[in-house]
Amino acid sequence: MKLRVLNEREVEQLLEMPACIDLMDGALRALSRGDAVLPLRHMVWLPNKAGLLGLMPGYLGEPKSFGLKVVTVFHGNHDLGLPSHQGVVMLFGVETGEPLGLFDAGAITAIRTAAASGAATRALARASAGDLALLGSGVQARTHLDAMRAVRPLRRVRVWSRNEAHARAFADREARRVGVAIEATRSVEAAVRNADLICTTTAAKEPILRGEWLAPGAHVNAVGSSFAGNRELDATAVKRARLYSDCRESLMNEAGDFLLAKKEGAVGDDHFRGELGEVLNGKVAGRESPDDITLYKSLGVAVEDLAAAHFLLKRAAETNTGALIEWSGTA
Ligand code: NDP
Repeated sequence: MKLRVLNEREVEQLLEMPACIDLMDGALRALSRGDAVLPLRHMVWLPNKAGLLGLMPGYLGEPKSFGLKVVTVFHGNHDLGLPSHQGVVMLFGVETGEPLGLFDAGAITAIRTAAASGAATRALARASAGDLALLGSGVQARTHLDAMRAVRPLRRVRVWSRNEAHARAFADREARRVGVAIEATRSVEAAVRNADLICTTTAAKEPILRGEWLAPGAHVNAVGSSFAGNRELDATAVKRARLYSDCRESLMNEAGDFLLAKKEGAVGDDHFRGELGEVLNGKVAGRESPDDITLYKSLGVAVEDLAAAHFLLKRAAETNTGALIEWSGTA
């Protein structure tokens, strides 16, 4: 039996954004149909809270895939010039349980998270949306730029980051990479003024985005906070928006943006409109008016990693990419 191994570069090469957006669309539809098994993720924190090991197992019925992402998250790595998310996605056979693949989890997480936001934006943003504000200048900001470009023609791009030099460096580097002008702003308010696409991709613990700054009709992808105690959006931002998420159970347990707004009495559980998959399946209404503010709260779920891994296994075989290792049955 042979095991396919793909490193970061190979994952990036094979998992192209437009294809990954369709994969996430399909995986989130399957999740909302009940065609998946998805326990809440398990996190093991180091005693000093410097980092955690996240375990994200799952099964996806369409495409059939079974496996686990093991990922470490060390936010301090950002200051050391190292990736904050590192690990492995493991894929197993659904018939007999054999290990099939080991793929770099940092690259999969970077691409699939933005691709899910791309699927959300395609479904929820105004058709004419194209004035993008990126909050944050790290890995997710970069892949979100790619995802937003894949689903809407961009008229304008602004970026804000806590460290102004990082925002400027991002603007210069990414403008050259993708060939669109990018403006670095000094404040979040200046970045989001009249923006109709907003991606929050920071490790902020306290709100950086205030609801009073949101223009009517804006669509927000809130990506950075995946923990119950952290948030990027204040309660007004959540309250003003029609709220959707990748997974209801994850939202109710892990989404600080929502849970802290709820704790402050701004919203109740009934504020949640539904899962993105329910919108895509036509079970829940999405945007109803051009002036609606829509909010996709991304938590990140294992079915996204599995759909990406399933695709990578097939593409790697077709293109003979990565290492193929004799794993068992050779003795
Ligand atoms: P990076 O380490 O590459 O970038 C971190 C970004 O957060 C930088 O732009 C940094 O800004 C900013 N930042 C850090 N601390 C603060 C703070 N206290 N206030 C405001 N900004 C801050 O991380 P990634 O891009 O990989 O991830 C970004 C966030 O998204 C993380 O919180 C991560 O956990 C989350 N995430 C969510 C996923 C999901 O599925 N929803 C999946 C993967 C990641 P600066 O450089 O200016 O200091």
